[in-house]
Amino acid sequence: MNPSFSSYLINDVFDDPGVYVDIRWSKRALLFDLGHNDGLGPTRLLRAGEIFVSHTHMDHFIGFDAVLRVALGRGKTLKLFGPPGLIENVYGKLRGYTWNLVDGYPLTIEVREFHESEMHQIKFRASDGFQPSEQAAFPASPTSSPLFTVLEDPMFTVKAVTLNHRIPSFAYSLEEHFHINVNKQKLHEAGLRVGVWLNNVKQYIRQGKPDDFRFTVALYDEHRREDHEFVLGEVKERFLTISRGQKIAYAVDARYDEENEAKVVALAQGADIFYCESPYLDCDAEKARDRYHLTARQAGLMARKAQVRDLVVFHFSPRYTGQGEALEREAMEAFQGE
Ligand SMILES: [Zn+2]
Ligand SMILES: [Zn+2]
Repeated sequence: MNPSFSSYLINDVFDDPGVYVDIRWSKRALLFDLGHNDGLGPTRLLRAGEIFVSHTHMDHFIGFDAVLRVALGRGKTLKLFGPPGLIENVYGKLRGYTWNLVDGYPLTIEVREFHESEMHQIKFRASDGFQPSEQAAFPASPTSSPLFTVLEDPMFTVKAVTLNHRIPSFAYSLEEHFHINVNKQKLHEAGLRVGVWLNNVKQYIRQGKPDDFRFTVALYDEHRREDHEFVLGEVKERFLTISRGQKIAYAVDARYDEENEAKVVALAQGADIFYCESPYLDCDAEKARDRYHLTARQAGLMARKAQVRDLVVFHFSPRYTGQGEALEREAMEAFQGE
C-alpha cells in the first residue's frame, strides 16, 4: 500500500513547530503552521498552496515571509486558514513592505478566518499592492460537535477544533476520504501501462462518477496510438483496491484541561499519525499550565485516549535542551500505558 500523504516535522523538535504534508502524485502539499521554515527550500515552500495556522504567536507565524517571498511573482493562489485575527495579522505582515513594483504579479493571497458562527474571507492581490478586497462573511453550518470543517477537497477533508491557549489555538485533522491503490501486476497482465490516465481514473472516483461511467484513454504502444474505452466499475474491479484513507492530526499550544482534552481526543480519534506538542516534562506540569501548554505525559495520554497508531511529539521547551529523550520517553510511556 502506497499512502497518499507523506508527512514530517519541518524542524528539529526544539525548533519552531510545523508539519509538512506532501500529497503524492499531485505536486500539491499542505503546511500546518508557519514557524521558521527556510529549511524546506523554495520548491517545497512553493508547492504548499494551502496553509493551516494554529495561531499567530511568533514561533507559528514568522515563516509567512518565506512563503510570501517564493510565491511572489509566480502565478498562484495561496490559501491560509486559521483562527480569528488571522486576517488582521496577514494584512499587518503585508503592510510591512513596499509594493510599488508588483502590479504585474499574479499572486493572490486568500485568507479564511473561522469564528464561532461565521467564516470571514478576504483576498489580497499583488496586482493591487495587496490591498484587502472581496471581503465577505458566511454563516457557519450549525453543528453539535466542537469539530468544524475548514477545507473540503475532492480527496480529503481538513477539520479543526478551537483549543484554549489563553487565545484560540486551532488543532487540525487531515482525513483522506478513501485510498485508491493500483494493482500494477494486474495492469501489466492486461497489457496496460501505468500513466496519467490512472490519475484521471482516481479523479473520476473522487468526483463520485457512477460505475457505468465510460471514458476513452489514448494509450501509446511503439509509437502507435490506440484508443481504449473503459467502464469505470470494471477498472475498479480489475485493477484497483479501495480502502480506508489516511488520517493525520496536529495539535499545538494548548492547556491541559477537560475541555481541551475532549476536543483533541475527538479530533485525533483513530489517526495514523498524531503530531502533538509536548513542551514540558510532567514534573513541571504547573508551569506548563501557567504557560497554557501541554506536558509530554499529557500528550501521551491524549494520544492513547484517541487510539492513534503513532504519536510524534515536538515543540520542546529550550529549558530541556539535552533532555529530548526524556520528553520523548515520558510521552511514549503514557501513550503505551506502561
Ligand atoms: Zn502559542
Ligand atoms: Zn508555540
